[in-house]
Order: sequence, then structure tokens, then C-alpha cells
Amino acid sequence: MTRTIIDGGYIATVDAVGTEHSTGHVVIEDGRITAVAAGPAPAPLREGAEVVDATGCLITPGLINTHHHLYQWLTRGYAQDAILFDWLTALYPLWSQINARLTGIGAAGGMAVLARSGCTTVGDHHYIFPQGSGDIVGAIVEAGARIGVRLHATRGSMDLGASQGGLPPDFAVETTHAALRASAEAVERYHDPSFDSLVRVAIAPCSPFSVTADLLREAAVLARSLDVRLHTHASETVEEDAYCLERFGMTPTQYLESVGWLGSDVWMAHCVHLDDTAIERYAATGTGVAHCPSSNARLASGIAPVRDMLRAGVPVGLGVDGAASNESGQLGIEIREAVLMGRLRTGADSFSVRQGLSIATMGGARVLGRQDEIGSLEPGKLADIAVWRVDGVEHAGILDPVAALGLGAMPPLARLYVGGRAIVEESELVTAEEPILAEEVAAASRELAERL
Ligand SMILES: [Zn+2]
Repeated sequence: MTRTIIDGGYIATVDAVGTEHSTGHVVIEDGRITAVAAGPAPAPLREGAEVVDATGCLITPGLINTHHHLYQWLTRGYAQDAILFDWLTALYPLWSQINARLTGIGAAGGMAVLARSGCTTVGDHHYIFPQGSGDIVGAIVEAGARIGVRLHATRGSMDLGASQGGLPPDFAVETTHAALRASAEAVERYHDPSFDSLVRVAIAPCSPFSVTADLLREAAVLARSLDVRLHTHASETVEEDAYCLERFGMTPTQYLESVGWLGSDVWMAHCVHLDDTAIERYAATGTGVAHCPSSNARLASGIAPVRDMLRAGVPVGLGVDGAASNESGQLGIEIREAVLMGRLRTGADSFSVRQGLSIATMGGARVLGRQDEIGSLEPGKLADIAVWRVDGVEHAGILDPVAALGLGAMPPLARLYVGGRAIVEESELVTAEEPILAEEVAAASRELAERL
């Protein structure tokens, strides 16, 4: 047995009652948390253990990213001033040039930055599979293993091209049958349902305006037969609302419910434009939401009604979204964005820093269906832990360390653990050489641009 003790930091457990210890310790044994308590670790436990001095640090659960498009790491900085539909239309041709090798490089870059911003579990939504592009989901899984994060990959899809009334050009879409077959294959090949799984796979047709109702309906049946989750984009923009009203005579929520897409095994990205009735349907069915404040601001989509969702009992997690609409890709700063945006929408007392931390951790765990495994610091859970240094010049003097994280600059990481394995130490990724990764990303981005 290996034992690590993180000792002497401020602990925010994010358990059901929000327990915090102004000085405490966390014990990790064989990849799981075995104790979390106030004060120093008892002497017998320290014997033979690796003791990490966390004085001056804030210890939180590892952050959980519930929505990303990792391949977009290679296409940052394009269509800088566009709204969603124009931005998508500008980028589809470039995205249609990707393949498994390029995607793997972009995914490693995106996951490296996520890890360096406190993220231990990475949700990804991949939905572009050009003909002959190889095993893209496999490349993302491999990149996850390279960086050392816990991965929720999805096999996405688009089957509604422009000639059929969809937004994407015809060359960017697959047939319904091919999308379903490949989704089943990705689950069979990579999905691991075990308790401490490092790779889970969900099925994720892209959005109401890029897939057919048949694909949505059949994907839901398929996912339920394979016992995996469902993910898509929903209610992101007013243009999407208008599209659904015109094409289906329904709001996006009514449409998605009509094809079997509300449920406790479903999570949706964005949900910026949910009205009270839609929020009630999400709450009643347990449908989760990936809140992506920076991306929603970048594309001027609006501010999601997160306070109202939380009050209604909707599971809400945090996401960076794809890097082409959030060039930062850092999950740590999204806590601050969520707090600030929440206040812009509903007032200064409507969204606390602790709510921000909660949606970034336990909220994300609920959204991904892993609330028994990750999301809080409690004995029995997996040792996915962020140790933030809050005694540097950026944060020293902020008496509340959670406010230092949620309102201050994103703190550097003393450690980031995934299943008890340190993948970041003193701000440096230990699983990959960052300068080499940066060169790979730059070369792959260039290659992709030149392919067009
Ligand atoms: Zn997205």
C-alpha cells in the first residue's frame, strides 16, 4: 500500500454540508481518499507515508470539465467577432480537414492546459469525423492517458447537412446509420464502467440544427441499451430557438423531450435560453447542464440562468467549451467567470464563490453520473485533488482562500492528483514535456490551416 498525506492546508471538502477545515489533512491510500480531517495527520499515519506540506494552500476536489471540443485546440483565434452560427459556418471547412493524428495532438494540448488549471476529469464532445480520418476517439483516449487525466469522451455526430436544412455543409456530415454504428463501436472499444474508470464514453449527436430527429431518437435508444450517457448542445442561442420554432414548431427543450432526450442520463451544454417551464422540465427529469460562461460571452450567446436552475434542483456542472470559442481553455478561471456572470444576470447576492466551486466539482460529478466517485473530498472517493497555492503575491492577504480561488487570479497548483497520482507539481505538468507539446500543437495548427 502507498500512502500520501496532504498536510497543513485549508480544506474545502464540497461535501453535502460544505465542511471546511481552516487547517487540515487529507490521506490518500492506493488512489482513494481514506481520511479528511482538521489539524495535522496523526503520527502513526505519517509513518512510511509521503507527506506533502500544504501550508499556504487551498485543497479542493479536482475540477470537473463537463463540455469541451478538444480538437478545437488547433483552431483558436478564428472568427473572433462572430456569433455562434456565423462562427460555426466559418470553421466547418477547417474542421473538416482534421484526422486522428492531429486531433490527438490538439487533445493533448487542451488537456495539458486543463490539468494546469486544476481539472482532473475532462469531458469531451467530438462530432466531426471526416472520411478516412482514422480512429479519432482512440486518439483522444490516448491523449488522455498521456496527460494522465480522467476522461469522459463522447462519440458525437452530425447527419443533417445544409441541403437538408441543417447548418453544417454536406461535406461535414455522416449518414445516420454510419454515425450510430460508429457510436456503438466507440462504446464497445473504450467505455470502462468500473468505479475508478479513467475512460468513459457517451453518445453525443451534435445539436438540434446539425442532426436529424431520427439520429437523436435512435441514439437515445442505443445509449440506453449500452448503459452509457447522452450529451448534446441545447438552447445555446436565440437563433437556435428561432430555428427550432420554425422547423419543429417547438422550443429546443420541447423538441429534445419529444425525441427522448430529457432524463437523468442526459446532459446538455449551454442552456442559456431556458425559460421557467424548460427549467422545470430539466429539474423534473434530472437532466444535467454544462454551464460554459466564457464561451457564452465570446460568442455573445447570453448568460445562462444558473441561479434559477440550481434553485429548481437541476444538476449543473462547469465547462470551458471548445477552445475555438474559449481560447483560454482553463477550467480554474471559469469558477470566477461563473460567479461574475451569475451576478450580472441575477444580482450580487445570487451566486457565491462556494456555489462556483460547487458546480465546478460536485455539480460536474452529478452531471457525469459520478457523484459516488469524484467531486468532493470524502473517505471512499477517488483521490482527485487540487492543491492550490494561495500564499503568493496574487493571493496573500485574502483571508478566505475560497474567495482567493473564486474571485482572485487563478492560483498556481502545488499539486494535482488524479487517482492519487500527481500529474502536476509546482505548476509543472509532470506527465509531458510542455515545450515539446507546445511545438507539436503549433506545427499541427499550421498543418491544419495549410490543408484548407
Ligand atoms: Zn460546445
